[in-house]
Amino acid sequence: MRFHIMTLFPEMVLQGLNTSIIGRAAEKGLLSIEAVNIRDYTLSRHKKVDDYPYGGGAGMLMQAQPVYDAWKSIVDRIGTPPRTIYLTPQGPSFTQSMAKELAREEDLIFLCGHYEGIDERVLQEIVTDYVSIGDYVLTGGELPAMVMVDAISRMVPGVLTNDESGSTESFEGNLLEYPQYSRPEEWHGKKVPAVLLSGNHKKVEEWRREQSILRTKERRPDLLPKADLTEKERKAYLGRNG
Ligand code: SAM
Repeated sequence: MRFHIMTLFPEMVLQGLNTSIIGRAAEKGLLSIEAVNIRDYTLSRHKKVDDYPYGGGAGMLMQAQPVYDAWKSIVDRIGTPPRTIYLTPQGPSFTQSMAKELAREEDLIFLCGHYEGIDERVLQEIVTDYVSIGDYVLTGGELPAMVMVDAISRMVPGVLTNDESGSTESFEGNLLEYPQYSRPEEWHGKKVPAVLLSGNHKKVEEWRREQSILRTKERRPDLLPKADLTEKERKAYLGRNG
């Protein structure tokens, strides 16, 4: 899987992503992450990439030309235009299911805006997906791009050493993960639930399933209508059918 991140701050993106699990996966050749500096493509003598918005208003806007030429340089190298994601507070919020779906692509381009955003005309020409990371406004698209690359990378086969860990986590089946415990058996007077020490795998699985449902009900009840629950579980934990 190849990530191409279009940005005015390439070092920020590369420093953030070339560490830990994602850095290791890149070293192993499971992924590649390149940052394309939009400023390198400006035709302005002063290396300018922004200008005032027509009609007035606060702030500056990134201009169409350098953004388009930077994008074109990536597409020319790849051969065909891949999905191009514009990080913007105006898109639908990023989710785990989007991460899984995007992990099936071979190439993805991320376009990071800055200042007040980007000239609408180039967005119309190159962007296939508008994605937000939440209902708040950041100064640039770099952190959102890093968030997305991290979450998508974990879904690429082989990136996580234990295949299991990507499939039993929060949001699988629209449920949150159960609570987890490690050594010691007692800490600050708090004991690890006895069932986890029982060695009875069936009971452990049942307990985890129940905890998952209860935790989702308590912390993210909005997920429950879409959760993969049996009729029996719906009756037992939600007190209703369907
Ligand atoms: N004027 C724009 C608006 O009101 O929609 C906001 C521009 S914001 C200050 C600058 C850049 O940060 C955006 O172009 C976008 O790339 C990025 N950005 C800010 N908040 C974001 C969010 N919640 N999700 C994804 N990208 C975001």
